[in-house]
Amino acid sequence: MARCLIGCGSNLGKRREQLDRALELLRFMPGVTFLAASRYRETRPVGGPAGQLAFLNGACLIETELSPHAVLEMLAAVENTLHRERHDRWGERTIDLDLLLYDDLVLETTELTVPHPRMATRRFVLEPSAEIAAELAYPPAGCTVGELLDNISATHPLIAVVGVPGSGAPEVAAAVADAVMGRVIHAPAPLPLPTRAEAGLPAGGAAMRWRKMLAAWAEPLDRASWDDDPHPVIADYWFDELALTAADDLEPADLAGFEADFTSQADGIVAPQVAIMLVADQAALTERIAFRSRHSHLHTNVFGDLAVRMADVSDCDRAAALVMFQGRLARRLRCLDGRGPRSPKAVITVDASDLGQAIAEATAAVEAML
Ligand code: ATP
Ligand code: CA
Ligand code: CA
Repeated sequence: MARCLIGCGSNLGKRREQLDRALELLRFMPGVTFLAASRYRETRPVGGPAGQLAFLNGACLIETELSPHAVLEMLAAVENTLHRERHDRWGERTIDLDLLLYDDLVLETTELTVPHPRMATRRFVLEPSAEIAAELAYPPAGCTVGELLDNISATHPLIAVVGVPGSGAPEVAAAVADAVMGRVIHAPAPLPLPTRAEAGLPAGGAAMRWRKMLAAWAEPLDRASWDDDPHPVIADYWFDELALTAADDLEPADLAGFEADFTSQADGIVAPQVAIMLVADQAALTERIAFRSRHSHLHTNVFGDLAVRMADVSDCDRAAALVMFQGRLARRLRCLDGRGPRSPKAVITVDASDLGQAIAEATAAVEAML
C-alpha cells in the first residue's frame, strides 16, 4: 500500500462542486482508501494566460495498491469525467488533479514525475498539503511537507538562479526580480570558465585569486546585513558554484586552504531557500558562444557572463564542457548525501534553451511562493 498526496484545483465552472465531485469519485475508486481532504482555499492564478478567474485549491491523501502510473491514469479519468480540456499551458480548467507524492518514491519518466516537479515552491499546493500531511516526507530535500511550506515562508527570501555561463542566469534573475518587485544581485565577477582544464591550459594554482573571489561573492549575501524586507532577493549565482570550479582550477596543495576559506565564508552568508536551475542544451550554448564572440565588439550585455577566450577551442567543444559542468551543478544542487544547511530545499529545473520561456517558467515558480 502506498500513500499518495494529491493536489486539486479548479478555476472554471462550479469550482466547489467540481472539487467535491472529484474527491467523491476518488473515494469510490476500487483499490483506493480515502484518508483525508483539506479545506479549499481561494488562490490567484499563477503563470497562465491573463484574465483567468481565481482558483479554488485543495489537497487529499489516499492509500492505494495502484502503481504510480495507474494513479496518474485514475486522476486523468476523473479529470475527463469532469470535462477537463487542455488548450494553453496553465490555462483555465474545470479540474486539475496532480500526483504530488507517492510514498517516498522519486521517479522521472516522460509521462510522470514524482514528486511533482513544481510543488516545492507552490504555496497553493503546500498550504492545503500541510494541513493534512505536514509530516509526509519530501525525499528530494530530505525534509517534510510542513518544512517545505516553512521554507517558502522565510522573511526576505533568497532565490538563487543557478546555471553555467551562457545559460541566461543574469537575464532570468533580472526579469524575475522585475516581475515580483524583488532586488537582483548579480555575481560580482563571471564564474571562471570550467573549460580551462579541458582546454589544456595550466592549472591556475592562484590561491590568492580564489580567496578574493570567495570574499567578493559572499559580500552581497552577508547574513549580518540581511534585513527583514519582505520582498525577495534574486541572485544570479549560488555560492557553492565556486567550490565546483575551484576544485578544477586549484592545485591539490592549494585546495585544502581554499576549502577552509570556503567554509568560513559560507558560514557567514544567507543560504537560498529556492534554487532555479537553468538547463540549456549543447546547441543553445554553442549558438550563444558564437553570438557572444561575433557581437562582443557591440558591447551588448546579453550573455555577458560568457567570457570569450580560448581561441584554440571550438565553440562546440566549449559548449560540451559547459554541458558537463551543468550536470555537475545540477547534481550538487540535488545531492542528498552532500546536503548541508546551505542546500536549498526547493529546486526547480527550468529549460533554458529558449530564454523567453525560461523567464516565464522561473517567474511563475517564484510568484507561486509569494
Ligand atoms: P503543472 O504540472 O505545472 O501543475 P498542469 O497541471 O496544468 O501544470 P497538465 O496539463 O495538467 O499540467 O499536465 C501535463 C502533463 O503532466 C500530464 O499529461 C502528465 O502526464 C504530466 N505529469 C507529469 N508528472 C505529473 C504528476 N506528478 N502529476 C500529474 N501530472 C503529471
Ligand atoms: Ca497542476
Ligand atoms: Ca495537472
